[in-house]
Amino acid sequence: LGVSMALTACGGDDSGDGGSGSDGSGGEAQGKIGVILPDTESSVRWESADRPALEAAFEEAGVDYDIQNAEGDANKMTQIADSMIGNGVTVLAIVNLDSESGAAIQEKAASQGVATIDYDRLTLGGSAEYYVSFDNTKVGELQGQGLADCLGDKEANIVYLNGSPTDNNATLFAEGAHSVLDEMSNYTVVGEQAVPDWDNEQAATIFQQLYTAADGKVDGVLAANDGLGGAAINILEGAGQAGKVPVTGQDATVEGLQNVLAGTQCMTVYKSATQEAGALADVAIALANGEEAEVTGSTVDSSDDSEVPSILLTPQSITKDNVGDVIDDGGQKAEDVCAGK
Ligand code: BGC
Repeated sequence: LGVSMALTACGGDDSGDGGSGSDGSGGEAQGKIGVILPDTESSVRWESADRPALEAAFEEAGVDYDIQNAEGDANKMTQIADSMIGNGVTVLAIVNLDSESGAAIQEKAASQGVATIDYDRLTLGGSAEYYVSFDNTKVGELQGQGLADCLGDKEANIVYLNGSPTDNNATLFAEGAHSVLDEMSNYTVVGEQAVPDWDNEQAATIFQQLYTAADGKVDGVLAANDGLGGAAINILEGAGQAGKVPVTGQDATVEGLQNVLAGTQCMTVYKSATQEAGALADVAIALANGEEAEVTGSTVDSSDDSEVPSILLTPQSITKDNVGDVIDDGGQKAEDVCAGK
């Protein structure tokens, strides 16, 4: 069955081409939009999925833009923000590296008359006009449910590898997963730790420690994204347990999807970059034009109970059975996912 599913996903044609033809210099909206991505290490998504989707969305809208990456350095993000403001952006969207530095960037921007948007991660205590993301509690629920589906009714010891403690999303992912798994009396949490900066190497070290501390009696791993999941799978491989111990993930990366097809990863979560980038472009253009953006609701900032007008999109659970959905949606190219298969 696994092989035929893998063939279904890997047999389709390549429909993942997202580029648009226009040249981005039209300027239907007034001003210029700046976006600062967080890093290149915590997930491949920022450069491989978000950047091209953002470029396509801004070009299609005919608006000027500048997209840069802070390379995991909050000081660098602050410097990029300063230079973008100096270069005349009227709207600034950030994926913060931590809420404190994000809030400082937003405060400074506001003092210069620059509107700000939180992209993907909410800045606690920040002053963004809007928040564009997925329903991140739902992401965690999908991960918890996915792990439960892979584990079934047996008694099982679970280890949690959570995302960065500085990322509000990581808190929501863990809450969502716990809300599902804590309901099941047959599961026992035998280890849980947050991985600083979502760093994959540290994730491997942390998982090895938790695994050893549990005497290798680990039956399932709730890993918060595909990178952390991949780190756990490597350790499990060394112990001869890869494919026997289900591991979750997130981002539907090429590596994550390959692991799902290979059976070493139980599931991943697909969050369309085209949808998220498109929503950001809509909100940014509305702000640049001095208009109000359409929202799906609001998000409570847990630091001060303030409400941030939000667009929260719907994530999708991906298992071996529906990897093809990601490819059909243009989230990955079949030729990449199926390379070497
Ligand atoms: C994002 C995830 C990503 C993680 C690491 C989170 O805030 O929502 O998609 O895997 O950061 O970059």
